[in-house]
Amino acid sequence: MRARYVAMANGPLSRPKLPGIKGINDYKGHTFHTSRWDYNYTGGDANGAPMTNLQNKRVAIIGTGATSVQCVPHLAKSCETLYVFQRTPSSVDVRNNQPTDEDWFNTIATPGWQQRWLENFTANQTGGMASEDLVMDGWTDLSRRIQARIRTLPEAERTPHGMMAAWEDSDYEKMNEIRARVDDIVKDPKTAEGLKAWYRQLCKRPCFHDDYLDSFNEPGTHLLHTDGKGVEQITETGLVANGVTYEVDCIIYASGFEVGTEHKRRAGFDLTGRGGHTLSDHWRDGMKTLHGTHVHGFPNAFIVQPTQGANLISNVPHNLTESGQTIALTVRHTLDQGHQEVEVTDDAEAAWVEILLSGPGRMIGSQDCTPGYYNNEGLDPGPGAKFHVGYPQGASAYFEYLKQWRSCGQFSGLSFRDKPEAFPD
Ligand SMILES: Cc1cc2nc3c(=O)[nH]c(=O)nc-3n(C[C@H](O)[C@H](O)[C@H](O)COP(=O)(O)OP(=O)(O)OC[C@H]3O[C@@H](n4cnc5c(N)ncnc54)[C@H](O)[C@@H]3O)c2cc1C
Repeated sequence: MRARYVAMANGPLSRPKLPGIKGINDYKGHTFHTSRWDYNYTGGDANGAPMTNLQNKRVAIIGTGATSVQCVPHLAKSCETLYVFQRTPSSVDVRNNQPTDEDWFNTIATPGWQQRWLENFTANQTGGMASEDLVMDGWTDLSRRIQARIRTLPEAERTPHGMMAAWEDSDYEKMNEIRARVDDIVKDPKTAEGLKAWYRQLCKRPCFHDDYLDSFNEPGTHLLHTDGKGVEQITETGLVANGVTYEVDCIIYASGFEVGTEHKRRAGFDLTGRGGHTLSDHWRDGMKTLHGTHVHGFPNAFIVQPTQGANLISNVPHNLTESGQTIALTVRHTLDQGHQEVEVTDDAEAAWVEILLSGPGRMIGSQDCTPGYYNNEGLDPGPGAKFHVGYPQGASAYFEYLKQWRSCGQFSGLSFRDKPEAFPD
């Protein structure tokens, strides 16, 4: 298929990852990864119909991150026996999911409400000075609480050190609340102890769920807390953890997705640009773009993803809608002006990367944290990781900058050509 313009929106977390457990290939029972849910095996469907085929099955789920937190409540109701193998617990706060009140919705749903909510969420969540919180969810609560704590500091203590200490206090208070919630809900004290997260809230991706903890009160559901060690081995018929073997009919891998690995690997293809130059060559020493969207040497190709733009990971769609608008406008301008090609210049790309590297770097996922995707499983992420950042002034400032970049009509940093430059054969 031929296309004059290509936008690649192949997802930040779309390549499933399996755990490197000894014996993983030896298992003879049924297995699947959560991203390839096998309804033929489990019964039920994606609309939530009960998974009736699991009624007489012993099932193991490996992993207790954001995916597992959503699967376990359904599995706990369906399986004869469910073993939840946990390396480190997630922090699971209140989600307070409930039907939307139509009368209330009608009062807020005035033209442009979606954009206002996107922007309000971002302003609240990333330390902006939003006066109101329209979204009122766990993410905005998390950051508003930290901001409120910092505001109570006397003037003399508003130093970087004082503010970090206030953040730590607020974090400790919140994590204590989340741990207390476990005691309130989970009846068995040993299980409750195992479900308590003893780290700072942004060490791991915070989770919010109203039914997850209660699942562990189901008589057939067992937490296998391994105190950071994980599953030791998989055998032909089951799993070994804490020195004990558990025989199961099925293993479900809730082991997540690759994050920050090479683009070619996650996309499943390499992009070839001008002169036969590939994207993996261009990014050999690290990612280089303008706004995370345009890449020098790859005319008429665009990338739709958050890194090197706002890098707002708490609401990925906000990044995507902004990229979408930028790409649409750029293509429209190219067509309207009768140009054949649009491409970021080498200088503009280099200047953008320099701006990105002037910032403080990553704010979450310290190497001191327990392993997870925020800190590359605790492993050295390598020299390329320093390029996986966003606009130094933060997400709201980036979106404002991008809006101005679009509206001024200059398309600064992009060059437009009336004849294509040599493409590879
Ligand atoms: C467990 C989990 C929880 C998450 N929670 C949140 C959250 O709360 N908030 C949030 O904002 N984000 C969350 N995310 C991030 C989430 O990935 C994004 O918000 C959102 O899905 C990104 O949309 P996307 O369209 O970029 O990518 P995706 O939804 O991943 O879509 C990419 C699509 O491209 C396809 N594709 C990939 N490669 C190719 C190829 N070579 N050829 C053809 N098609 C291809 C994939 O099959 C997929 O259909 C979560 C992710 C996970 C895994």
